[in-house]
Amino acid sequence: RSANGKSSVESLPGGQGVVAVLTDITHEKAIQKRNAEFVSAVSHEMKTPLSSVRAYVELLADGDAEDEATREEFLGVIHSQTERLQRLIDNLLNLSRIEAGVVHVNKAPRSLNELLEEAVNLLQPAATHKQMRLVTDLSPLYLGVLADRDTLLQAAINLVSNALKYTPEGGTVTVRSRLADESVVFEVQDTGVGLSPEDRQKVFEKFYRVKKDQQMAAGTGLGLPLVKHIVEDVHGGRIEVESELGRGSTFRIILPSQSSS
Ligand code: ADP
Repeated sequence: RSANGKSSVESLPGGQGVVAVLTDITHEKAIQKRNAEFVSAVSHEMKTPLSSVRAYVELLADGDAEDEATREEFLGVIHSQTERLQRLIDNLLNLSRIEAGVVHVNKAPRSLNELLEEAVNLLQPAATHKQMRLVTDLSPLYLGVLADRDTLLQAAINLVSNALKYTPEGGTVTVRSRLADESVVFEVQDTGVGLSPEDRQKVFEKFYRVKKDQQMAAGTGLGLPLVKHIVEDVHGGRIEVESELGRGSTFRIILPSQSSS
């Protein structure tokens, strides 16, 4: 039975299987609590763009936009606010998919390097468009991770796209990987705006955005909380950030190595 690889619990000696199940339940409760808080924060966040869209639509309907320029200004606000809503909804859908995945996690042994290459290839056009260098420095070793492919890929994509977003034109983003003891590590390093020590603590909070970055790029403040959720809850890893204002940031993900788990 254990040879078919269907269930890792069944293949363990009896006692260990029970421990694994109990840990799973506690873990699930913590996730449910976090999810409830998240939903309430999200509802709040949705109201702002929605009421703004509604107000401007009413102004247009009432004929309050007297000239073409004012009409365009109103439409511009409606457009940017609906985009803001769209991004929020996209991130939320991804999040609920992950949470569904916590119950039926589709984890399999995978190559971390292959996954990182995929993320980099997907974002290479965006980097070129912004006249930035997006390069890899990957371990020559096979780095095995027990990964849910879609979510881990999304975590890598979120980190690389942030690095591209918060780095001025001409900058460089480097994606690295290496083996470290019982873990595999990957890093996304940029030469961008960096984060102050206070902001470094807060960027993983839902909806947190650094003030001055709000002008630099659009965002929802859901990207990094989503990455943290994927890394910690789905993959049992952890995330760290090193950064210096004006010099750049490095986001580091540490995952259990598949051979040691
Ligand atoms: P979003 O990018 O949608 O605002 P995130 O949760 O991905 O949301 O990031 C939260 C905030 O953290 C961003 O608004 C930005 O201020 C900051 N941030 C994220 N990644 C970087 C980075 N690589 N360099 C500098 N600041 C960053």
